[in-house]
Order: sequence, then structure tokens, then C-alpha cells
Amino acid sequence: MFSNKDITHFANIETPFYYYDLTLLQNTLNACAQAAKVYNFHVHYAMKANFNPMVLEKIKSTGFGADCVSGGEVKKAIEIGFDRNKVVFAGVGKSDKEINDALDQDIFCFNVESIQELGVINELAAKRAKKARVAIRINPNVDAHTHHNITTGLDENKFGINSWDLSDCAETLKQCAQLEFIGIHFHIGSQITNLDVYKNLCVRVNEFAAWFEERGFLVKVLNVGGGLGIDYHNPDQQIPDFEAYFKIFNDFLEVRSNQEVHFELGRALVGQSSSLISKVLYVKNGKKKNFIILDAGMTELMRPALYQAYHKIENLTRQGVTDTSVKYDVVGPICESTDCFGKEVELPETSRGDLIALRSTGAYGEVMASHYNLRENVNVAYSE
Ligand code: PLP
Repeated sequence: MFSNKDITHFANIETPFYYYDLTLLQNTLNACAQAAKVYNFHVHYAMKANFNPMVLEKIKSTGFGADCVSGGEVKKAIEIGFDRNKVVFAGVGKSDKEINDALDQDIFCFNVESIQELGVINELAAKRAKKARVAIRINPNVDAHTHHNITTGLDENKFGINSWDLSDCAETLKQCAQLEFIGIHFHIGSQITNLDVYKNLCVRVNEFAAWFEERGFLVKVLNVGGGLGIDYHNPDQQIPDFEAYFKIFNDFLEVRSNQEVHFELGRALVGQSSSLISKVLYVKNGKKKNFIILDAGMTELMRPALYQAYHKIENLTRQGVTDTSVKYDVVGPICESTDCFGKEVELPETSRGDLIALRSTGAYGEVMASHYNLRENVNVAYSE
């Protein structure tokens, strides 16, 4: 819900733009930090969710580490000033250059996703006379019960090392003198709203930790990834229940006294703190359908086209109008039929020039913007 002051402010900014509520962002970060502190859990922010510099600044200042999935993210994390001892680097396809750069930066840990990658990191570390800290990303075959396009922890997914390869993995680790095994890593998917999924994950983490210990490995780090979802249908219910989330891991993980538990949260930290504000260019009333055509499209917000994601759509100009009898397909201007933000969306009768908010766009929004159709950079505005 935006105040009238916000809406008047929006009217003076060139649309489309991402609006960041930095106070809400800070409150969300504080809530997460406090809840994690109760159990002494370590949180790394998944930079892929949003690398807007203002957002990163706040996250770094709150004391979180950085979870990176490319060399570019590792570079950015270090530039921004994240503590390199809190930078972790995952990804199924790390290039030699990315590995070398991360070795030069002495990051905390590589989350390794294949046996071949172990060999490559070992070789490259040897050339630099360095030791690389590694955690094994295990694919635990746990269903995240989320959209199949954002599920990562099932046997058919490309991520991590499958359980049947772990014996080979352990052998390789023993042979790689330049690698220091520090623990195990998991990330089973995103936008997880059923917290029972995490109980299942904990059971598997306990099993895999025991498996490595039985083979003589010291498992110092249990990194359980991220994935905590947000309520896209109720964007005003803004701060996720971090307490309930962390409690599950406290209750169900068997953590030894010498072990650390690490998390990699993205969406839950930033998702609700932004909306994409757009203007209605045209309204086309047809026989079968009514269309609202916005000046924002899939080039600004890709999620609906990419994985049929839902974002609540609100007509800010008509805020307070309770008659929502008109159904519209809300679409963008891009020359693709998938450039659609919502079908049959009930809204007050809408006119050219109305301001429309697409809510909950803080995660995987601005970062996925593209120049397709030679679109210009999307604008950005902040609450402070
Ligand atoms: N960790 C890894 C390895 C990821 O790939 C991702 C994103 O999918 C995350 C953490 C963060 O996920 P989320 O934004 O759902 O918390």
C-alpha cells in the first residue's frame, strides 16, 4: 500500500522505474540478522537476487556475507567491500578465469558442483601455490515443492554432485593436495513457502554430514543454501518469518559443537522492498479481452515471461476505488506474446496515463532487465 505522498512523488519520475523502499529493506535485513544471531547462524546474501549498489551497500553494512554465482559477482562483492572471508562462490560452470580470480581474492570457499571441477580448482590452485577451501555442493534429491523452473535439488537438475558420485568425490578430495575440504553445501530451489521442505532437507544434510565424517572428513561447514519464499499475493505483509525459518534448522539439523551453519538467502531479504512502477500507454477494449498496455515490459521485469511468476498489479491512480469489475490482460510493449504480466486481472476501470505498480519486484527484477528490442536502461528511485 503506497501513501498519497508516495504516489504524488511517483508522478514526477520518468516511468518505468524500480522503486526501492530502503527503510523496509533495512527492517527486513535487521529482522533476518536478529533471528540468525539467536542460533549463531551465518548468512550470505545471494547477490544474484539483486545487485543494485544501494541495496548491496545496506546488506554489506548489516554484516552479511556474499553468495556469488559468477566471477562478476565475486568481483562486485569485493569491490563493494564485503568481507572476503564471507564470500562463497557456487555455479556449475566456473571458468578457469573465474576460479583464478577468486583464488587471487582468497575467498572463503568454492561451492564445488562436479568432480571435474574439483580437479580443475586443484590444478589452478597448485599453479598459484595456494590452497583452496572447498565445500561439496550435494544434490540431495529433495523436492522443494516450488515452480519446476526454480527447483534445483532433484536428480534431474544440473546442480551439485549426486549421491551416487560421492564415493568418487571423496577419493578425488583425498588426492587433491591443494584443496581444503571444509564442508557440504545444498540449495534445493527458490520461492519455497512450505517450511516442511526444509525439514526434509535437514534430514538429508544430517545423513550426508555423517557420511563424510565416517570417511574421515572434518565437516566444519553445513551450508543449507537459501530459497525462503515471500508472499507475492500479500506484498504489504512484508517481512518474512525468519524466526520460524531458522528455528526449523535449529530443531532438525544435528549440529556438532565445532560446526557452523551457513545460509544463502536472496529473495526473502530483498523481494518485498521494491515495486516496478509503470504508466498505462493504451487501453484496448476488445470483444473477448481488454488489454492494458504498459510502458514496462519483459525487458524490465522478466519473471512472468520466464517462469509464469505472479506479481500483484495495482492501479495507483485509482487507489481507493473499490469497484474492480473490469478484467484486463496487463501486457508490455515488447514484440513477444509472452510479454504479459497478468491475465484477467481485476482492476478499477483504467485509463491512459494511470500509474500501475507491479509489486514485490525486489528479487530477480532489476537484475534481469535486458536491452531486448533496444530498450533503454530502466530507471531507479529510492525512498530516502
Ligand atoms: N544459493 C544459490 C546457489 C542459488 O543459486 C540461489 C538462487 O537460486 C540462492 C542461493 C538464493 O535463492 P533465493 O533467492 O531463493 O533465496
